[in-house]
Amino acid sequence: AAGCRIYRDAGHGRFEIAAQYGSDSKSDALDSLSQVFRQDSQVQEISVGGWRVLAAATRYHGESNGGLCLWKTGDQGAWDADHHLIVGDVANQLGIANQQVANHEHILTLSRTDGMTGLLNRRAFFEEELPRRIGRLRHNGKTSALFYVDMDNFKRVNDVHGHQAGDEAILALCEMLRKLSRPGDLMARLGGDEFAIWLDGVSAEVAEQRAAAVIEASAALRRFSGDSEHPLGVSLGVALYDPVTGENLEELLMRADEAMYAIKNAGKGGYILAQPPGRPPSPDGGS
Ligand code: GH3
Ligand code: MG
Repeated sequence: AAGCRIYRDAGHGRFEIAAQYGSDSKSDALDSLSQVFRQDSQVQEISVGGWRVLAAATRYHGESNGGLCLWKTGDQGAWDADHHLIVGDVANQLGIANQQVANHEHILTLSRTDGMTGLLNRRAFFEEELPRRIGRLRHNGKTSALFYVDMDNFKRVNDVHGHQAGDEAILALCEMLRKLSRPGDLMARLGGDEFAIWLDGVSAEVAEQRAAAVIEASAALRRFSGDSEHPLGVSLGVALYDPVTGENLEELLMRADEAMYAIKNAGKGGYILAQPPGRPPSPDGGS
């Protein structure tokens, strides 16, 4: 054979290459095989772009989850019956393998996300994504910002309107933050009514503008409030990360945390920009 490819179902009707070997000079032509992988047929022998191709869907419990193809040049003649058998057998094994890969990916996704909002969870955010982002900044020298976002008076929503209404308020905040986000941002639900956003490559000025935009949009959360004296809103603790300071992740998180604590103490409903590493925060930002 000149080459071989294993495809897997990537969702939304697309098949992606999971593995390949040998010549793929006519690779685009092979993409038309996805029709074969969707069909209910056994191994098929077809001519594609000058190649003689053996193709079969891989299946799990009768459902197609990918495909296998093997090709040689057209002048080498037809494949023989043994080759058809082997490709059929191997495709059956690959149906199980493709399913195992999909299961594994599903479990990985579950372990990284918050079930309610679909955002990254605390562990994935702090242990996997942030260290990666910070490592990258050490190379390009840009500043970035970490936002801690915590709802104000959220307990009242639960107490007065019930847990279900509380959940709706959490989802409303999540949706609001999603709408305000930009490509490159990283959002996570840290737990309860607490979220975090990493704004990649932003200046202090942009970080403040974005924090102010969150506060402004949060007025829409008031409709969930438990009572008018305890309006539902948000507070933001903002810490700017500058790679030249050599600050580590723990110190950065502590500054964001302290800024959050400071804004909660200063009356909530605003943001505070943490002082650079080494100095205590002062309530100079916010509204
Ligand atoms: P503060 O203004 O100081 O932030 O206080 P708060 O009332 O917002 O309350 P706090 O942030 O201290 O606590 C969050 C509460 O959120 C505690 C918990 O009962 C509730 N909670 C945590 N997870 C969930 C959830 O998934 N759904 C709902 N409805 N409530 C939750
Ligand atoms: Mg809160």
